[in-house]
Amino acid sequence: MKIAFIGLGNMGGPMALNLRKAGYAVKAFDLSDEACKKYAAEGLAISRSAAESVADADVVISMLPASAHVEGLFLGSGGKPGLLDSIRAGTLVIDSSTIAAATSRKVAEAAAAKGIAMIDAPVSGGTGGAIAGTLTFMVGGETDDLERARPVLEKMGANIFHAGGIGAGQTAKICNNMLLGILMIGTSEALALGVANGLDPKVLSEIMRRSSGGNWALEKYNPMPGVMDTAPASKNYAGGFGTDLMLKDLGLAQENATAVRAATPLGGLARSLYAAHSLAGHGALDFSSVLKLLQKASS
Ligand code: NAD
Repeated sequence: MKIAFIGLGNMGGPMALNLRKAGYAVKAFDLSDEACKKYAAEGLAISRSAAESVADADVVISMLPASAHVEGLFLGSGGKPGLLDSIRAGTLVIDSSTIAAATSRKVAEAAAAKGIAMIDAPVSGGTGGAIAGTLTFMVGGETDDLERARPVLEKMGANIFHAGGIGAGQTAKICNNMLLGILMIGTSEALALGVANGLDPKVLSEIMRRSSGGNWALEKYNPMPGVMDTAPASKNYAGGFGTDLMLKDLGLAQENATAVRAATPLGGLARSLYAAHSLAGHGALDFSSVLKLLQKASS
């Protein structure tokens, strides 16, 4: 099976490498020369354009930042034709970017009109999960299309959920990320309070991890530098999941909440706090760096 992989960022790069390691013929492309050079050095075949990468592909995977990138890539923008014009009928498109459910539906509809199947398959599990091949996929689309995608998804992830029709994976994803955004702030707030009172962050983290405050951030992604060697916090908040990407996801959650008249007060507050953190110049840092905002507020 031939796979085209578009978007070699923090997530897409390691995901594409896992597909190649599993024996698939992968042709990859990214707009960034730096990303292309990095993954060419790791042995990935890099195409000169997205259109070249999909020419003979059976499956096309995209892993881009936001709705505008996915819409621009597949449907075209500024007079440039979209990739759907270059993809063969019968090909399966798997979009793993986190975007608006409405955009997934719009692109899937345009794809279907050309005989191209599409599923939305956003992921959870962070860059660690992308490298280890243990991501969770939340899939929206037809059951038959998911079954076609399953062997490929299994090379990149450990859990695959069928959330419903096209766009349902995106809805599940923003619910999850709204919770993650809130719990990272809560965890940071508790840690900052303890440290301001002289507690050792490692000791406090372990106490809370094994108590009723235990959560994913304390297990795998501690926001306090030096507590967890593998967490972005211990690498100057580099890599990981950018503050601006979390801000985007919380914005999607709020748009969705407005549309269905759902009350999401903590999601709204979390969005504002990440926005303030981004405006202070930290948009490119991992989202767990929101701890800095809280420490600054209390100093
Ligand atoms: P990233 O910014 O590191 O990478 C995105 C890549 O897409 C960049 O290399 C960029 O050059 C490339 N790109 C943009 N437009 C393009 C185009 N038209 N053609 C080719 N390449 C293009 O982002 P990421 O952290 O890899 O995240 C990707 C998606 O996954 C986002 O939607 C994000 O919300 C989601 N996500 C990220 C994480 C995480 O921990 N980083 C976790 C779960 C989900």
